[in-house]
Amino acid sequence: MHFTGRTWRPPYEAHSVIIQATSGCTYKKCKFCSLYNDECFCMSPIEEFEEDLAEIKTYQPYARRIFWTGANPFAMNYENLKLRALTVRDYLIKCQSMAMFASIRDIQNKEVWQLKKLRAMGINGLSIGTESGDNTTLELANKGYTAEDIVEQCKKLDEAGIEYYFVYMTGLAGKGEGIRNAVNSADIFNQCNPYFISVDSLTLFPDTELYAMARRGEFIPAGEKERIEELQTLIGRLQIRTHLFANSLSNFYPSSAYLPYDREKHISELQHILDTVDEQEMLEYRAGLKSLG
Ligand code: SF4
Repeated sequence: MHFTGRTWRPPYEAHSVIIQATSGCTYKKCKFCSLYNDECFCMSPIEEFEEDLAEIKTYQPYARRIFWTGANPFAMNYENLKLRALTVRDYLIKCQSMAMFASIRDIQNKEVWQLKKLRAMGINGLSIGTESGDNTTLELANKGYTAEDIVEQCKKLDEAGIEYYFVYMTGLAGKGEGIRNAVNSADIFNQCNPYFISVDSLTLFPDTELYAMARRGEFIPAGEKERIEELQTLIGRLQIRTHLFANSLSNFYPSSAYLPYDREKHISELQHILDTVDEQEMLEYRAGLKSLG
């Protein structure tokens, strides 16, 4: 298999077969992220992609879901996505879905008819690192799109029938801003149809711009308890029927909820953590994290 550079897939794709479609990130400007600092964006040559598919076919001929690695393979244009999707079908006859990371920016340059065709070819399950739906926070993190762009682009995915998942990041707005971030984000997410929302919590790593800003006093990180209150607010405000997973390593307390049914139970579970664990213990947990989880 041709894996070069950092290979990263979300925890919920653990059962998918993975293949490298691209490496690196087309953007590399999010202030909290250093994942692809040392790599240039590159599309895997179709010959390599095909060789990998042939190899997968020998040990997983009936693979039903395949995850294309790279920070944002969906940045490829329509023709390149189409070529790769059809090539997957040549090799993996039972493959039903081809999932990958995508940015809101990557949807902007595609027409709905193109999205529909890609869906028909099997592209389905886009993990979108929205991080927030609050314009001040999106600007602070330098995500390169607005809250209104999230709604506009996700409506295109809805129209095309492409399933998508959001990532929300608690703590990203900084100290004292988490509740506003959660309220505004929930209002934006309520206008979309994410199949589920995965929640991470900001961890400042030394090779990021946000870390440098914190050192200069230009960004004050949110406390750990504030982040849990932020999550409570997000859960309380979300009106859509969706799953919420806040169970990655970056969350002090791993939890998940099926909304709206688990709303009250989940909020009181988090309240119990707020009432029984002290801030210092939570800070020590975060200080021990070595990578994004
Ligand atoms: S968060 Fe995603 S889009 Fe932003 S720089 Fe990191 S890999 Fe690229």
